[in-house]
Amino acid sequence: MKYVDEFQDPDLAARLLDDIRAAVTRPWALMEVCGGQTHTIIRHGIDQLLPDEVELIHGPGCPVCVTPLEVIDKALEIASRPGVIFCSFGDMLRVPGTGRDLFQVRGAGGDVRVVYSPLDALRIARENPDREVVFFGIGFETTAPPNAMTVYQARKHDIRNFSLLVSHVRVPPAIEAVMQSPDCRVQGFLAAGHVCSVMGTREYPALAERYRVPIVVTGFEPLDILEGVRRTVRQLERGEHSVVNAYPRAVRDEGNPAARAMLDDVFEVTDRAWRGIGVIADSGWRLSERYRAYDAEHRFQVGDIATREPAECRSGEVLQGLLKPHECEAFGTTCTPRTPLGATMVSSEGACAAYFLYRRLDLPARPTAAAVPGPSLEDSTVG
Ligand code: SF4
Repeated sequence: MKYVDEFQDPDLAARLLDDIRAAVTRPWALMEVCGGQTHTIIRHGIDQLLPDEVELIHGPGCPVCVTPLEVIDKALEIASRPGVIFCSFGDMLRVPGTGRDLFQVRGAGGDVRVVYSPLDALRIARENPDREVVFFGIGFETTAPPNAMTVYQARKHDIRNFSLLVSHVRVPPAIEAVMQSPDCRVQGFLAAGHVCSVMGTREYPALAERYRVPIVVTGFEPLDILEGVRRTVRQLERGEHSVVNAYPRAVRDEGNPAARAMLDDVFEVTDRAWRGIGVIADSGWRLSERYRAYDAEHRFQVGDIATREPAECRSGEVLQGLLKPHECEAFGTTCTPRTPLGATMVSSEGACAAYFLYRRLDLPARPTAAAVPGPSLEDSTVG
């Protein structure tokens, strides 16, 4: 734990905060892209330590949160079919679809299994040649490479009873969508360090130039966040808008060439719907033609399932940084981690869950918030 402790050093944090206070002369709104960064910010109270002029807006970088409801419904439909073994990371089991979740499918007799790697699902397929084994492949550029590798291995070893339900999304088009929103208030971005460790930084200079926003590649520990804020604010104060790598211990400009090559082989870029936001052009991946036989959506003919988001959930506004979680009427009352109305409350990386876990007792009183049972979020292995 020594390594983590070093990036939580209170003396260094105080010095970074002093630097930020000294640099700020006017209000700035920054967006941290990743849900993991949001949790660090809320858990450690970083937003409360920053000067009032610096506002942190929580971006759309939680993979569970942005997975559309209709993809959840497709997963529920496939998992309910006889003969199917449906494999997923744990955090997807409690995400509500229309009327039920994967836990309830399992309770009703469905064979739904939590795995810690997509390769575990491939092993299960090998061990059960008479069953169809499906892995729920969601997430950003971080989880896409191992999922691509799994499909590559399935094809290489001719494992035909394996398929992938794909809902992968890409960060740069989401940043572009945020900047194109007429309500956008974001003036600078803390980019997600783990995404850049795979993809590198080559997609960001064009975005920084087009929208004249600084983009600082940022890690996940408290000092990482403060350093990202410090470098973003300094650029804004100087009128600069360049791409800076503030997470060099994990990120190289070229990313991970082997992982990118695997992505290029197995996936192709496609338009993708984001929960609460809608379709963003070129913002996702699907299996390329060579691997299309491993696409669960085609294999199980669930492509025509279409679902409407519940009207009372405002996660779309939360995911676009237009609303703070506690400003939603349902926060902590009808919507809690035990009774989530939207994925931003059920996911361990979701902004609503972060506010519920770490802030609900500090926020303006809501009668039933303190009375609800504590959260029991599943640990996330999705990044
Ligand atoms: S508090 Fe619940 S209902 Fe409100 S936006 Fe968050 S997930 Fe949706």
